[in-house]
Amino acid sequence: MPTTDEQWRERLTPEQYSILRKAGTEPAFSGEHNSTKADGVFTCAGCGEPLFESDHKFDSGSGWPSFDRPLAEQSVATETDNSHGMTRTEVRCAKCDGHLGHVFPDGPRETTGARFCINSLSLDFKPASD
Ligand code: FE
Repeated sequence: MPTTDEQWRERLTPEQYSILRKAGTEPAFSGEHNSTKADGVFTCAGCGEPLFESDHKFDSGSGWPSFDRPLAEQSVATETDNSHGMTRTEVRCAKCDGHLGHVFPDGPRETTGARFCINSLSLDFKPASD
């Protein structure tokens, strides 16, 4: 059964709710995962699905956690977002449809060329166990 809006409000903090369910954006450099460099996996703060991993994280200087690719191609869904007078590609969790951020074509050229610009509050970090 899909999670109801009421259940999301109960499950998430108000800040997480505004990002994941209302496509909000946290202030740049505000998120605890922006500068995280430890080994591990970033999971969806809404549903727990593994979405990104530290091996694909890079310092974009943008103030948001940045990855050159998702954990798996099917981990995230993308769609065109014309809000705020811009045309961007929105990134959502493929499992719970939570808003994560946007993907831009200005990532590291030596790898994928993509920059997944993700709100820290939409992610939980699971450190590698070893
Ligand atoms: Fe999710």
